[in-house]
Amino acid sequence: MSDKRILEVKNLEVYYGGIHALHDINMHINQGEIVTIIGANGAGKSTLLNTIAGDKEKKHGNILFEEIDVPEKSYKAVERGICLVPEGRRIFVNLTVKENLRIGAFLEKKSSTINRLYDEVFELFPRLKERTNQIGGTLSGGEQQMLAVGRALMARPKLLMLDEPSLGLAPIVIDEMFEKIVQINRELGTTILLVEQNAFIALDIANRGYILNVGKVTIEDNASDLMENPIVQEAYMGIK
Ligand code: ATP
Repeated sequence: MSDKRILEVKNLEVYYGGIHALHDINMHINQGEIVTIIGANGAGKSTLLNTIAGDKEKKHGNILFEEIDVPEKSYKAVERGICLVPEGRRIFVNLTVKENLRIGAFLEKKSSTINRLYDEVFELFPRLKERTNQIGGTLSGGEQQMLAVGRALMARPKLLMLDEPSLGLAPIVIDEMFEKIVQINRELGTTILLVEQNAFIALDIANRGYILNVGKVTIEDNASDLMENPIVQEAYMGIK
């Protein structure tokens, strides 16, 4: 991990019509970190990720990736190395595992590189390799989450953003998924921005975190200190 900022969000304001979803957001991620954004339903977590990914336009502020503004077009953000695994996975349910993965590598033309990327994803998720020709919609929830992450990895992101990867999964499957997130960070060197309602599991693997409350960052700290913070414990970990 380094002190070099891979992402910097400055004074970000985002609206949906008259709804002010994000208020003056300032945050950053250092190269190689796992950073988590924690917040309740409607806090603005998905809006933040979607805006960084170029899917939602901002009203004011800057999003700098490797010190250069991120264009407000999702395919251009992918070109720059930013990939989002959206909430609810959004895999292509009528396509096979391999076809879903191929779509993730849409910027890549060389078949030798694409084959190498398949191998990388299959090494990380052997379960997907066993199911190469299975239709996406018939995979279990955990397998669909693996496929969504694998599809994003096919674009070789420098920054991988995950929107509630634990949603709807059984505890044992969540543990497995979070081990894979750590492995992606350590072995592939991918910087991770992780959005979660499940504060405990997110802080357990993160270096730092931000608490988002009704569109504002209210607390920013190291993950271990957030874990010990009584406000965080009561509001997001169910500890009184
Ligand atoms: P959740 O955990 O429930 O997904 P979240 O923290 O990701 O919540 P967002 O989905 O970013 O929160 O929503 C932030 C605010 O913006 C909420 O008040 C929400 O109602 C509003 N919002 C989100 N999407 C839209 C939209 N397409 N149109 C209008 N308002 C929206």
